[in-house]
Amino acid sequence: MRSPLAADLGAIVGDENVVVEAERLRPYGRDESDLGEFVPSVAVRPRTAAEVAAILKLCTRISMPVTPTAARTGKSGGSLPVRGGVALDLTRFDRIVEVRRDDLVGRAEAGVITGDFQRAVEAAGLFYPPDPSSLASCTLGGNVAENAGGPRALKYGVTREYVLGLTAVLPSGEIVHTGKQTIKGVAGFDVTGLLVGSEGMLAVVTEITSKLLPLPREVRTALCLFRAAVDASRAVSAVLAAGVLPRALELIDETAIAATRAAKAPFRFPEACGAALLAEVDGYVAEGCAAEIERIGAACMEAGALDVVAAQNEAQRRDLWETRRRISVDLKSLHPRKLSEDVVVPRSRLAEMAAEVQAIGRRFSLSVACYGHAGDGNLHANVLFDRPEDRPRVDEAVAEILRAALRLGGTITGEHGVGLAKKEFLGLEQGEALVGLQRRLKAVFDPAGILNPGKMFPGE
Ligand SMILES: Cc1cc2nc3c(=O)[nH]c(=O)nc-3n(C[C@H](O)[C@H](O)[C@H](O)COP(=O)(O)OP(=O)(O)OC[C@H]3O[C@@H](n4cnc5c(N)ncnc54)[C@H](O)[C@@H]3O)c2cc1C
Repeated sequence: MRSPLAADLGAIVGDENVVVEAERLRPYGRDESDLGEFVPSVAVRPRTAAEVAAILKLCTRISMPVTPTAARTGKSGGSLPVRGGVALDLTRFDRIVEVRRDDLVGRAEAGVITGDFQRAVEAAGLFYPPDPSSLASCTLGGNVAENAGGPRALKYGVTREYVLGLTAVLPSGEIVHTGKQTIKGVAGFDVTGLLVGSEGMLAVVTEITSKLLPLPREVRTALCLFRAAVDASRAVSAVLAAGVLPRALELIDETAIAATRAAKAPFRFPEACGAALLAEVDGYVAEGCAAEIERIGAACMEAGALDVVAAQNEAQRRDLWETRRRISVDLKSLHPRKLSEDVVVPRSRLAEMAAEVQAIGRRFSLSVACYGHAGDGNLHANVLFDRPEDRPRVDEAVAEILRAALRLGGTITGEHGVGLAKKEFLGLEQGEALVGLQRRLKAVFDPAGILNPGKMFPGE
């Protein structure tokens, strides 16, 4: 028998879009954070903003927790329904509404897969730069909620830089259209800016208007090989000081390289190589790009690189990127469990941070892989472990990594968000007054506290 809640939701979206069976509900209880399983009482799959509005209105009236959820690739536990209640599945919002070539603007629903949107935009000769490594499965709505970054953020910035406007539903059931459809526009408070990165706690996004760019015609990629992560980290500043702004500059450390070997990733690293920087430049003139990638190679060699491998064709370039993108998953071939952090430090402190992470790993006898968007000072420090009993030790190591990042003038998260994973550390970074202001903002949007409760704020 369906519960009264399921029946009410069925009246809004149709019974076929309400999930109540235990085996179909289970996947809604997990994401890519490895933070455990929190199965909701019911999941609902709306198709229109009006249906989302009716669901939120109902849940506000009966004080029922609602957790927005999309592809569940999140790494901070944002989509986990920690207080049970309703999982609000946005994946049926899967329509690319339009790509306006003359305006350099695109409009898509929140459940569109990021990679699909990129391909549609590129087919029109345009470019949507945000490229989280999960782009084959994550959604635009999830990217907006987490303000996702990716390798190309170094040159092009993160999701925030491309969001012009949003259609969003407030917990009251009101539908708002924030921002603008034009490139410029400053009317009113920047509510779009507030909703980007709000981790599904202020409103549910149903449609996104994005700024687009002309598609760069030329791309060149090279892998610079080093003996150790500390050398590669130092080379990041050397590259940027050489007067070139690559679109990506990604670090891969020894443990990450070991994972690519164990999982037989397409690129085979030479034995002597203990770290690498994957560099990519783009532009509109082939000679210019070739000269820039050469300059990056030269800067790396001067900074102690063992060798520079330049991709000679598109297939080689794809292999390098696939090797990099798979690391998060391939690490599980070394140890079955991991907690992944994404601290950021000023670029000048990157080598210190890489050394700190290694020292913390040694202190706790844990393997820690460090890879990611080194050009932004953003390191994915993945603490690897084998058994659930190791977890307290892993949590201590993670806490040390976050504290080290703050000590070096950095932040606890560059792109994965606070969510469930880092809520106890937000105060440490931001202080009581700022956390208090954000709690009050949350209460303005969501007085009943139903939307994605139990996240972001310490003690929640
Ligand atoms: C292999 C791998 C690589 C990754 N690489 C990167 C990377 O390079 N850069 C990066 O930034 N992240 C990366 N991530 C993390 C993750 O992919 C991003 O955080 C992504 O934005 C999550 O999108 P999603 O659709 O999976 O959202 P989910 O995980 O389903 O949800 C994430 C958060 O968004 C909220 N949410 C989802 N949809 C909506 C909506 N429509 N309205 C309001 N709130 C919503 C949820 O409540 C939750 O808080 C990676 C993850 C994996 C597994």
